[in-house]
Amino acid sequence: MSKKIVLLGPPGCGKGTQSKLLVSKNDFIQLSTGDLLRAATSDKNSHIGQEIKKIMEEGQLVPDNYVIDLIVKKVTSLKDKNIIFDGFPRNLNQAKFLDKSLETSSLKLDFVIFFKIEYEVLEDRIKNRVKESSELRSDDNLETLKNRINIYKKSTLPILEHYRNKDIIHEVNAMDLVENVYDNILKIIE
Ligand code: AMP
Repeated sequence: MSKKIVLLGPPGCGKGTQSKLLVSKNDFIQLSTGDLLRAATSDKNSHIGQEIKKIMEEGQLVPDNYVIDLIVKKVTSLKDKNIIFDGFPRNLNQAKFLDKSLETSSLKLDFVIFFKIEYEVLEDRIKNRVKESSELRSDDNLETLKNRINIYKKSTLPILEHYRNKDIIHEVNAMDLVENVYDNILKIIE
């Protein structure tokens, strides 16, 4: 049976890093709405692409209809694969939509991994990234991070309750070493 897993946590908590490990060492496909959106905004001639780029640079959420459309096409074509949802869902509407679209293929989410981390650690991480990385994303700055954390608290955290009711939430300490977080995720999903 294929596995469907959501990685849930604030920006900078390490969801992307763990997704990439699960893809390279285990048989998973990563569906990152952030990556899909960045690809969709790379066309400078696309008016909608440039509007979405601006929303992302401000750290706001891209409208649901756009994100849902991107994801639904992928879910349908990948339904027999092990999938990690990275950065989706980000609000309750998206979470309910994901449940429904899996249901239509007789599937359901198996695990939601909640990355627990203190907000101060996220600020330290972004400050280091700005100092050390030569490949900064356009939303890699302290101002946008603060916006993104506020939106995370307001829109994304309420999803936890939705998944708690389904009894599929598992918590990992995202302040631990990358390899320990990875081991803990494996213990949950295997
Ligand atoms: P990420 O790469 O997951 O950190 O996402 C980068 C940005 O893309 C976010 O700050 C949002 O502007 C946008 N984004 C990514 N996923 C979603 C989503 N599920 N819903 C709305 N906006 C999203």
